[in-house]
Amino acid sequence: MDSEYPVILFYKYVPIAGPDRFAAEHSALCKSLGLKGRVLVAEEGINGTLAGPREAIASYVKTLRADARFADIEIKQSEGDAATFPRLSVKARAEIVTLGAAVPLQADLHNHLSPAEWKRSIEQDPNILLVDVRNRYESAAGKFENALACDIEFFRELPAYLEKLEEHRDKTILMYCTGGIRCEKASALFRQNGFEKVFQLHGGIVNYQREFGNQHWLGECFVFDNRMTVKVEENLVHIGICAHSGRSTSRFVNCLHDSCHALFLLAPETEQENTETRLCPECLSKGLTSQTADYKGSPARLSKAATA
Ligand SMILES: [Zn+2]
Repeated sequence: MDSEYPVILFYKYVPIAGPDRFAAEHSALCKSLGLKGRVLVAEEGINGTLAGPREAIASYVKTLRADARFADIEIKQSEGDAATFPRLSVKARAEIVTLGAAVPLQADLHNHLSPAEWKRSIEQDPNILLVDVRNRYESAAGKFENALACDIEFFRELPAYLEKLEEHRDKTILMYCTGGIRCEKASALFRQNGFEKVFQLHGGIVNYQREFGNQHWLGECFVFDNRMTVKVEENLVHIGICAHSGRSTSRFVNCLHDSCHALFLLAPETEQENTETRLCPECLSKGLTSQTADYKGSPARLSKAATA
């Protein structure tokens, strides 16, 4: 670990009895080490991303791996700083990533391709279809060449979206996500729905880029913390475009209208030209304006408070 303030990303599908109690104890551990970030615990496993001073992270990893269930857990590390996460949250949930499949499924743990196998398949097999199972704003910032990006706002929309992929049922599906956690469930979901040739990228984009950088990859990789995206500089091809102006950008904002809050790409120049672009295209098309949208300090909210 050479970074001064590393960010670690880890998950494991492994039975955890009593996730509530586990989460409480885990929260105490993270607090005692001064770590920030998010950890989700469920009966199906653990999923976390944490940041902190180097020594604190090292001691966290050591403690985690001392538990036999997590002895072999893979930890991905990147560079962060004290602002990467504003706070710490450790919670017990029904799932470590929410898919909400109608029929319960077990994560797929045995159809992974190593980054080298993945790259070879892309280069040699004409019958494969790359499927990006991340959310639409993530693939808008970066994706594998020729990948089919699922048009979903949340992972839990994937089960319904699967209908749109019917025509690809006979293809060899190579799916990927950021760090691998979503694929292990998505893979099981695809197979449950009759897709037979399904493979997933071991360790996700993060793992692939560590070995192969931007080869077959376009743009930046979205991450769920204040950094918003991480990228490999060498041979970087920008693909992110402003949702309003089409300008090249990798700047994400949340829609001004709080009940929407959708993430979208917005070029700084576009916002300067017209501040109404702080509303996402969908809200703008519904006729909302900065006068009528609902957000902290908005005219709409202030007048509501005045009449209440
Ligand atoms: Zn909106």
